[in-house]
Amino acid sequence: MHSTTTLAFFLTCVGFLCSCSSPTQKNPIHTITPGMILADVEFLSSDEMNGRHYRSKEGKLAAKYIADEWEKAGLVPLLGKTSMYLPTNDMRDSPNVAAMLQGTEDTYILITAHYDHLAPKRSGKDRIYNGADDNASGTAALIAMARVLGELHTKYKASIVLVAFTGEEAGLVGSEHFAKSEPIPMRSIKALINLDMISRGDANTIFLEGSSGAPRIALALSNANKEIGLTIVRGKHPDWLYRSDQQPFLELGVPAVFLSVEDHEDYHQVTDHADKILPGLAAKTTKLTLLAALELAHPVP
Ligand SMILES: [Zn+2]
Repeated sequence: MHSTTTLAFFLTCVGFLCSCSSPTQKNPIHTITPGMILADVEFLSSDEMNGRHYRSKEGKLAAKYIADEWEKAGLVPLLGKTSMYLPTNDMRDSPNVAAMLQGTEDTYILITAHYDHLAPKRSGKDRIYNGADDNASGTAALIAMARVLGELHTKYKASIVLVAFTGEEAGLVGSEHFAKSEPIPMRSIKALINLDMISRGDANTIFLEGSSGAPRIALALSNANKEIGLTIVRGKHPDWLYRSDQQPFLELGVPAVFLSVEDHEDYHQVTDHADKILPGLAAKTTKLTLLAALELAHPVP
């Protein structure tokens, strides 16, 4: 009797100490692991997915995979929509996919990444452009973020919206359609963070473009990085701003930034394989982005 009581008391103390001494363990953001990112990159960039070209059945399959994972995580379609699929004007295209954690106000923080890649080569031993870094990595980040968003108990003022774009490789087809068709009014978007290739190069370095035009996003990323500890290289490749899906939004005056790694030897090659990615870098970039987005979305006190 005595020993049981003591043990119970001891366990209570340990439990108390655990819950108080390591608050970061409690933050669901830390459930994002390199292994989780790698598993989704491996699936999306597998030969079975055939490169996820935006006019292929595998492109549509990738869209379905993303929407299913987001729905499982508890995200919902955009206001006024009954589906996470947002088709472009051309029914041959795989759709954009968009979902959100709804906020209490009519403002939006967007986190985006394209999920499409390239059609197979006509000949050769390896014909499939797997696109593991470009951009299964950014897509896996969006899936990991959804799982965290579904676990949050805090309410936020802004809705946090995840968008997986189609047809980026074909010339920003999906992002241009989204920006022009405005399923969310452009003026209500307070910030957009686009991820495209986040898993190669130096294991602790990510490149940030657009920060001078979006100081609030830059500040939120700096604050988040106090917890994540990446080396963030700013403004080294300003031309990148026009090379990925942030471009149509920047043109319409939406504050937007771009996170990416530098081009590498497997960029747009059939050798952009999952076994070459750095899942640790992708996981850190995912956490960085989500922490910044949550700050920008403002928790409701
Ligand atoms: Zn890309």
